[in-house]
Amino acid sequence: MKRSHLTAAAAILLLVLPFAPVPDFWITQLNYIGLFSLVVLGLVLLTGVGGLTSFGQAAFAGVGAYATGYLSVVLGLSPWLGLVAGLAITLVLALVIGLLTLRMSGHYLPLATICWCLALYFLVGNLEPLGKYDGLLGLPAVQLGDFSFQSERRMYLLIWLAALLAALAVTRLLDSRPGRIMRALNTNRGGGATMPEAMGASTFRYKLVMFVIAALLASVSGWLYAHMQRSVNPSPFGIKFGIEYLFMAVLGGIGTVGGAFTGAALVKLAEDQLKVVLPLVFGGSGNYEIIVFGVVLVLVLRFAPDGLWPLIARWLPGAGKRAVDEGAPALSARSHPERGAPLLDVRAIRKHFGGLVAVNDISFAIRAGDIVGLIGPNGAGKSTTFNLVSGVLPLTSGEVELLGQRMDGRGSRDIARAGLSRTFQHVKLVPDMTVLENVALGCYLRTKSGTLAAMLGLDRAEERQARAEAMRQLRRIGLAEQAHELAGNLALGPQRLVEIARALASDPSLLLLDEPAAGLRHKEKEALAEVLKQLKAEGLSLLLVEHDMDFVMKLTDRIVVMEFGRWLMEGTPAEVQASPAVRAAYLGADE
Ligand code: ADP
Ligand code: MG
Repeated sequence: MKRSHLTAAAAILLLVLPFAPVPDFWITQLNYIGLFSLVVLGLVLLTGVGGLTSFGQAAFAGVGAYATGYLSVVLGLSPWLGLVAGLAITLVLALVIGLLTLRMSGHYLPLATICWCLALYFLVGNLEPLGKYDGLLGLPAVQLGDFSFQSERRMYLLIWLAALLAALAVTRLLDSRPGRIMRALNTNRGGGATMPEAMGASTFRYKLVMFVIAALLASVSGWLYAHMQRSVNPSPFGIKFGIEYLFMAVLGGIGTVGGAFTGAALVKLAEDQLKVVLPLVFGGSGNYEIIVFGVVLVLVLRFAPDGLWPLIARWLPGAGKRAVDEGAPALSARSHPERGAPLLDVRAIRKHFGGLVAVNDISFAIRAGDIVGLIGPNGAGKSTTFNLVSGVLPLTSGEVELLGQRMDGRGSRDIARAGLSRTFQHVKLVPDMTVLENVALGCYLRTKSGTLAAMLGLDRAEERQARAEAMRQLRRIGLAEQAHELAGNLALGPQRLVEIARALASDPSLLLLDEPAAGLRHKEKEALAEVLKQLKAEGLSLLLVEHDMDFVMKLTDRIVVMEFGRWLMEGTPAEVQASPAVRAAYLGADE
């Protein structure tokens, strides 16, 4: 049995459960688990995948609950209108909060979500029309035609339908064009924002999208909760619950869909048991379960930092690798410049790091079809030059022109769109994505599917094309065998090759390779040289930093030599080899 069959069976079982003679107590328990799972699914995306911590999800649930409470009780409107209104208000609030806080670094977002959760709690608790701290009573049941979701057993259907659909949507999203960018955001080896931006994606936009999705899921949970309870009051939407949702996510396995359900179920079930057992042990009443949760959290973080779901998943059948349909139609290609046409013109670029001038008025030009080498001793400023040309770092001064367009002052996203792609000296792959997925990330600008299309599964045709393209590039670079392995399991040499395949998947006019042969064995180096020669034969232009002189000399048409940030000379491999100045630079710096 495959993992997907097991999941489908579990989903069907969950949906038929209320028709079986299951005691009401367990229906209620499962209702809460479903409601919590919805919120935690949002956190899986936001915190687990995106690395953005929010303590405020309970407040978004509160917005969903109060919107429908007010509309249905005070204005007498349909709960369905309440749902729409709740989602609309949540959307606006999440956009405003996200726009204000997501650009700030690290701890500002968590702090802002705490403030916002506290503020909403006291706001609704003090508003006369919302019933102050007593809340609103007598919410109507949700109606669908003549069917009324008036009992908990009937609400179960709505709750679990919503939870399972959300799980499906999030699962699809994570395995899609936007999802690959989202998964790259939180890994340092994915480069944080640097790599996805260099692939042409706006990382800020995706952070905002994740924040909004998480908020909307919480809002739906609040709506369902309100019509299950048939009343709303502020207490379930306070900061305590905001923290508890995060606790569920961490306990279950932050970053995995299965973890959301595991965490929600464990916390709900444990809380109920502990509430009964602990007062018997300690005597009297009190929220003793909080203490136990604190201890459990520390233990989980210490011994199972990825949460409990991975431990469970180990016993389940494997997900199995999805075949690549290599016959899928090719993605659109860009029109490349004619051989010999001016491609890149770098004019007196300069970069200061404080007092250090890492790149000091470097100029060179590349024509279409050239392979140009950039060499120099360690610390000469080669990687910094790459970062300036590709827009990863802003210039202190100077001009860069790519295909007749001025690129200085533009970010790496625009430069990627104009036709430049690159690899990184410090490899930036997403270690827990497969090699194939990492390469497919390079297709970002050649594909279009957005977040909604991905969640609805409307991107499948394009996904097949992207995966086929990724496979083609892997085949080209000699890594087709490893396509379904996790990128993090590869040795450093092959990881560099994966980066080249990823850059090629973007169909660039100019390819920048920073030390592509470092860490490769002799045979692998020869194979790489063959690939690069073939790329040149196909008309691709290359700028290449490499320490292996033999490799550089055999491959390049021209070489630019740098030393201490300065331009030392430019010439053919033979001229560079014969130059006493170059020899002196190398001997002086390395020994
Ligand atoms: P290369 O790639 O030629 O070995 P780099 O371009 O990496 O050299 O570095 C050139 C110089 O700039 C080095 O002295 C390095 O320490 C410095 N440098 C590089 N990046 C930074 C940075 N982000 N901040 C400060 N100094 C830097
Ligand atoms: Mg370098």
